[in-house]
Amino acid sequence: MPNLIELTNLILSEGVLWLALSGLLLAYWVIYRIRRVVLDPLKQLAKGAQQISQGDFNVRIETTQFGPINTLVRAINQMALKLQERDQQARLTAFTDRLTGLPNRSYLTLALQDRTQKAREPLSILTWSIDNLDSIQEVLGHDVADQVLKRLAAKAKRVCRDHIVLARVEGPVFCVIMPRRLLTIRLAKYPLDRLLRSRLRYQRHDLEVQGHAGIAHYPEHSECAESLLRRAEIARLLAIKTRQTHLEFEPRFEQHSANRLQLIAQLREAIALEQFCFYFQPKLNLRTNSINQAELLLRWNHPTKGLIAPGGFIELAEQTGLIKDITRLVIAEAYRISSLCAQQNIRLSINLSAMDLEDLTLVRFVARLHKQYPEAAKHLMLEITESAAMRDPEQALEILARFSEMGFQIAIDDFGSGYSSLAYLKRFPVTELKIDRCLVQGADMDTDGQIILESTIEMGHIMGLLVTTEGVETEAEFELVSKLGADYLQGFWLSRPMPFEEFRLKHLVGNHTSLLQTKTSMADLSQKVL
Ligand code: C2E
Ligand code: CA
Ligand code: CA
Repeated sequence: MPNLIELTNLILSEGVLWLALSGLLLAYWVIYRIRRVVLDPLKQLAKGAQQISQGDFNVRIETTQFGPINTLVRAINQMALKLQERDQQARLTAFTDRLTGLPNRSYLTLALQDRTQKAREPLSILTWSIDNLDSIQEVLGHDVADQVLKRLAAKAKRVCRDHIVLARVEGPVFCVIMPRRLLTIRLAKYPLDRLLRSRLRYQRHDLEVQGHAGIAHYPEHSECAESLLRRAEIARLLAIKTRQTHLEFEPRFEQHSANRLQLIAQLREAIALEQFCFYFQPKLNLRTNSINQAELLLRWNHPTKGLIAPGGFIELAEQTGLIKDITRLVIAEAYRISSLCAQQNIRLSINLSAMDLEDLTLVRFVARLHKQYPEAAKHLMLEITESAAMRDPEQALEILARFSEMGFQIAIDDFGSGYSSLAYLKRFPVTELKIDRCLVQGADMDTDGQIILESTIEMGHIMGLLVTTEGVETEAEFELVSKLGADYLQGFWLSRPMPFEEFRLKHLVGNHTSLLQTKTSMADLSQKVL
């Protein structure tokens, strides 16, 4: 049996033990609470701040019972929410076209990527453009053009109901992605022609919209979003070029556009290496029965394809702006041989493109040549088409006036092949009218054609212009244009265009009667004219 002292000691030591135990428990509890209320939330806060700094604004930190930390938690949560809102707004702006409110190209590409990864059904990508928007903008201003875009976006929304994405890609280009079967149904009800060739009434203006479209299908044409879009675009661009309302992509189109790119690169190189040669086509002066004019016609001396006529590259050169350099080469050539032509009293004409009539630097280029060779311009003529002159008439007028001051003669080329307004063209310092071969050929066999040709020649004369009839191929046409009083004749009947050496031998050397050398039967034929 323990005695009293031992019992007291025991009680005391157990009390100490309990005390120590309770102390320990208390300490543990305090530490636990500090961890729960202070340290864990602080860790959460640190983690949240780190997430925010890494661009994850989805962070929401739980509140604690500890007031001062809660203030911090609320501040961080609020900051994350604000950043999230701003981020969403920025995303919306980055993916939306401001004018029409439609998604933009970035969104379209992402959506198409997403769809082509998940798609379980065939899709169609239809891209279309309003190709006369520039003219609408030029004539009626930006606001009207913007309204047209908005109205057409709204119309497209109706036509392409239930689309996956309808986007404005850029400028006048739109694109829609739809399940194929749905697009077929919609287009059966509302043919593309009605969307692409529509009329809009805006304020007092009756606007005609002209568009072209390209279509590519998933998965046949590609399974990759980017190339699907590109192929729909290739089809659209070809539709514009070939003047068809719409085209569905075909693999050969890609070859076409690859060829085009290759041709552009080769044309660039051709300019650098001056891979061109010049052909000359004489013109017969029907009054004097002699040759005192000739037209300089360009040929591309392609390293593998041989001689390419202008029809094979001038349009491409115009579309890419390379025509500016080509025109300079042609003018330089004309200057080079102008004194030789002048000796034989032959005026040489050069063809200018629409872009040249908007290019003031060309005037400066010619002015430099003119300063060096002031006599040359008197023996040169510039041929411009009416459509080129009408593209920017004021600018063309300024440029042509400068050329005229230097002594160049100016002729209107291909007259009658488009919308002709002589009265307007007379504002330009023009001295000659070249009637297009479409009014000349066959006129001898067609009374109406003859009347039109006669009145065009007469009209040219009334306006004080010399008149050339182009494309005379037959003797009957030669007789007709002579009888109708044309001043000059140009055409295969007289001579095809020829390389410089041949032209030089026939027309630029010696004291020849160029007429007889050009055409043996001309002597007696000319009797009929005189
Ligand atoms: P263009 O200015 O109307 O030139 C006359 C074109 O008609 C030439 O074609 C010529 O070969 C062709 N031609 C002449 N007589 C007859 C004929 O009796 N019957 C037929 N069917 N055709 C005839 P080419 O040389 O192929 O040139 C075509 C066009 O290319 C030219 O038409 C001109 O618009 C453009 N071109 C030619 N050289 C240049 C140039 O140096 N610069 C620019 N910008 N364009 C050029
Ligand atoms: Ca011409
Ligand atoms: Ca012509």
